[in-house]
Amino acid sequence: MTATANANLFSRLFDDLDDTARLAIETLDGRHITYGDLIAFSGRMANVLVARGVKPGDRVAVQVEKSVPNLVLYLATVRAGAVYLPLNTAYTLNELEYFITDAEPSLVICDPSKADGIRAIAAKVKAKVETLGADGKGSLTEAAAAASPEFTTVARANDDLAAILYTSGTTGRSKGAMLTHDNLASNSYSLVDYWRFTDRDVLIHALPIYHTHGLFVASNVTLFARALMIFLPKFDPDLIIKLMSRATVLMGVPTFYTRLLQNPALTKEATKHMRLFISGSAPLLADTHREWSARTGHAVLERYGMTETNMNTSNPYDGDRVPGAVGRALPGVSVRVTEPETGKELPRETIGMIEVKGPNVFKGYWRMPEKTKSEFRDDGFFITGDLGKIDNKGYVHILGRGKDLVISGGFNVYPKEIESEIDAMPGVVEAAVIGVPHADFGEGVTAVVVCNKGADVSEAKVLGALDGRLAKFKMPKRVIFVDELPRNAMGKVQKNILRDAYKDIYAKT
Ligand code: AMP
Repeated sequence: MTATANANLFSRLFDDLDDTARLAIETLDGRHITYGDLIAFSGRMANVLVARGVKPGDRVAVQVEKSVPNLVLYLATVRAGAVYLPLNTAYTLNELEYFITDAEPSLVICDPSKADGIRAIAAKVKAKVETLGADGKGSLTEAAAAASPEFTTVARANDDLAAILYTSGTTGRSKGAMLTHDNLASNSYSLVDYWRFTDRDVLIHALPIYHTHGLFVASNVTLFARALMIFLPKFDPDLIIKLMSRATVLMGVPTFYTRLLQNPALTKEATKHMRLFISGSAPLLADTHREWSARTGHAVLERYGMTETNMNTSNPYDGDRVPGAVGRALPGVSVRVTEPETGKELPRETIGMIEVKGPNVFKGYWRMPEKTKSEFRDDGFFITGDLGKIDNKGYVHILGRGKDLVISGGFNVYPKEIESEIDAMPGVVEAAVIGVPHADFGEGVTAVVVCNKGADVSEAKVLGALDGRLAKFKMPKRVIFVDELPRNAMGKVQKNILRDAYKDIYAKT
């Protein structure tokens, strides 16, 4: 870690930059942005933020499509000592009202088409509004073009906030995870090392930047390594396969990998320039992992993290990248598995609650001290809400979110265990196992299954295949076939939607 007086993430990223002419970003329309350009552009924007009254510690809420100016806005906000607060571009005005009134930003940046609606909400918290469109045009960039590129990075301490990211929260109110300068910097340093990033790397950046994966993991790691990113507005399998001939790393969610596998252009030849494929944010099916290895000769490296903690574990760069496992704790991060009710640490190979501690773990939930307190143990471990185990080799296996645990007839049923069995059946693409109300059992184990077109799979066949492989209490009471599972933008299966859709299937008529 470079010794620098200012703990501001921006200073840590760029104070020791030795070559301002090095390329940082390339865009589809052929623009080449150097590290020097990025710093100058961020200086211009930081000056605009300050001119609009943004002070250190203020939140800058941003609902803008992915673009280079948006990434620069993140850097400029952090540089000005303020707190970057990205919002999913899919949120409606109604949803934005909650985030804006909860976070009380002093400035909101939005697409020009939404400015009128947002102004009305922003007025409630006396926030100013500036615009930035997907094409990079808007009042923010106009003002930046006229501003000075010189800006003295605001001094910040390790523990000061750099960003607030609202969790996707499928139940209850979405919570703002407060991330500090050191949370972000320390995690990036670790990942650069662990994944062997260098200034020769070229990352295909196809993730959204309102989420921890695309914003911090992909962007910060690339910038810390002085590498180059090819910045794509969205996931496009044909284009990504073409870019592989001159790129070295792809970071993706599992759906990237399943969709790339459907493309006949994905071959060993097409991927031979690549050195690393990374997956995270949702479970990568073991089948996808194996199929990817067979097709390309590359073992996908799966890692595990969350908005609140940045990255916790990773499969190794050298050594076994185990399908279905998320690897070992990153250096400096402690991971343990506990009995959920008591927090008592459990031995290896035993399923329980995954807890983590380290410089990567967030400071708490914005204006929710009670909620924060209840999600940390007294010794500082954060209770992730993920159930899993650590195997004898120290690899972590995730068995699903605690709230997805099914309790049937008083027994705990871990969905992943049943899903893996069904996934392994010929003709099955994937399965999601949920619990829905059942008069006798409390919850009835229910499998929702996606099959290949024309596959000869039926409820009786699935149950037949599971019979004898699973204890009776784990057997699905119903197997339902669907064309696809509902997923959010990060590829997570939305089990709450499935539970809702099938909540009455065991109702007595
Ligand atoms: P988010 O805060 O949106 O990044 O979601 C974090 C959650 O995604 C974690 O708590 C896990 O439940 C899940 N997750 C992230 N990475 C993985 C992975 N590699 N395998 C399984 N689940 C994952």
